[in-house]
Amino acid sequence: MRVIKRIKWAGWVALILFSAVTLGAIYHLVSPEIEASSGTNQITEKEEKRQDFSEDASLNVRTETKETNTYTMSISMPTLKSKSLDTPIKEWIEQQKSVFIEEVERNNAVLSADNLAYLTIDLKVETAGELYSLLFTSYQYVGKGQPTQVFKTFTVNMRTGESVQLHDIIHLNDQTSGTIRTLIKDQLMGREEWKDYVREDVLNEKLSDLDDLKWSVNKQALDIFFDQYEVAAGSVGGIEMKIPLEALRSYLNPTLLNNAQLEHMTSIEKSQLDPNGKYIALTFDDGPSPKVTPRILQTLKQHGAKATFFMLGKQVETYPQIAAQVANDGHEIANHSYGHPKLTKMTSQEMIKEMSEANTKIEMATGIEPVLFRPPYGAYNSDVVHYAKMNDYSMILWSVDSLDWKSRNSAAINDIVTNNVTNGSIVLMHDIHASTAEALPELLVKLKAEGYQFVTVSELLMLQNENGAGPHFGHVS
Ligand code: ZN
Repeated sequence: MRVIKRIKWAGWVALILFSAVTLGAIYHLVSPEIEASSGTNQITEKEEKRQDFSEDASLNVRTETKETNTYTMSISMPTLKSKSLDTPIKEWIEQQKSVFIEEVERNNAVLSADNLAYLTIDLKVETAGELYSLLFTSYQYVGKGQPTQVFKTFTVNMRTGESVQLHDIIHLNDQTSGTIRTLIKDQLMGREEWKDYVREDVLNEKLSDLDDLKWSVNKQALDIFFDQYEVAAGSVGGIEMKIPLEALRSYLNPTLLNNAQLEHMTSIEKSQLDPNGKYIALTFDDGPSPKVTPRILQTLKQHGAKATFFMLGKQVETYPQIAAQVANDGHEIANHSYGHPKLTKMTSQEMIKEMSEANTKIEMATGIEPVLFRPPYGAYNSDVVHYAKMNDYSMILWSVDSLDWKSRNSAAINDIVTNNVTNGSIVLMHDIHASTAEALPELLVKLKAEGYQFVTVSELLMLQNENGAGPHFGHVS
């Protein structure tokens, strides 16, 4: 998805000064405290009321976390006022837990602090009129083999409390079913990252009864989900696709989804994020690196978090598989120049070469053409802005500098970030320092407990409806 941003000059200088002064001050005030790390079998439970989900609080979500010396578990547990759904949801979660625990016990010998098993079940809620769709994403690693991603969806009519099936919202007959099958197949076979990995016979089988599909609905689209390994090779990961309701309009059940409740998509690039949500874009610069990047990827996966990696062309050239892994995990890949020079000291020609060589290496390794550019050291002048814009890049700076490059201390990194983030922040970190990888698990737990979700920079810009090539900073309050 290309997000093209146009330049907004106003306020840059103020923002730079503000961030520099504030962060500088805070950095000096915060003494790096090492928290007494508690040992094993610690169980923490957090209650979190998500009133934005429903005005009458008929949907509450509680996050239960558990840490032992062999695994971590973080599970979002909703309580609905729906008898027909509360039980199946509970049963599904219990089943995920018990299968996981069994596997963990079986693999006990290979599990340790360096090889922790994990089960993370995240919940996303989408609404369309009276319909609430609950999407659970379960990320699991049992100590051996590859982590896996599994989806589960439930849709409920909040007025009646009844569970809703696909045939309740779409009039399914031979013709409409055929259209939906075609829409799904076209997307799977048409997308570069999926088409060579899809097993068509398995897919046809899965599409034979559309009521068996995992789906959720919002005001713009019907989303369809396939687990990792379900219809494609495991390397593809879980598959999520959107069918615009526009394409299904004449088949929709008018009592459940009438025109007034739906939003016409003005563009396929419309942000899917909740405008009332709290979002942060974590960014990692100067990698990929063989020692740190994989650790960061594992932590992000464990928390269902997405981030943006500003890669150096030189590093991508040396470690193309790690770059590809970052892309496969669904993170945003961005350009941070080829060799990390100070662009402001270069001729235009050298500058262009730095950008385009990095672009080429990234595209060769990941198949992705980045749309975001961050100049090394955040150093730019009008030439840098000009060439970034010419190449359709959005120039991205940051609003919170973790100073991880300076402190190399995980507690200090956590303090700076947690004390400075606000909704819409872009956080600068580096996936080349072990201390950054070390800081991340606790940081994500803390920020999640405050209600933050972690998205890519492009997603954040779409949500903020930002126009312009940049430079962009996260919101600074
Ligand atoms: Zn850098």
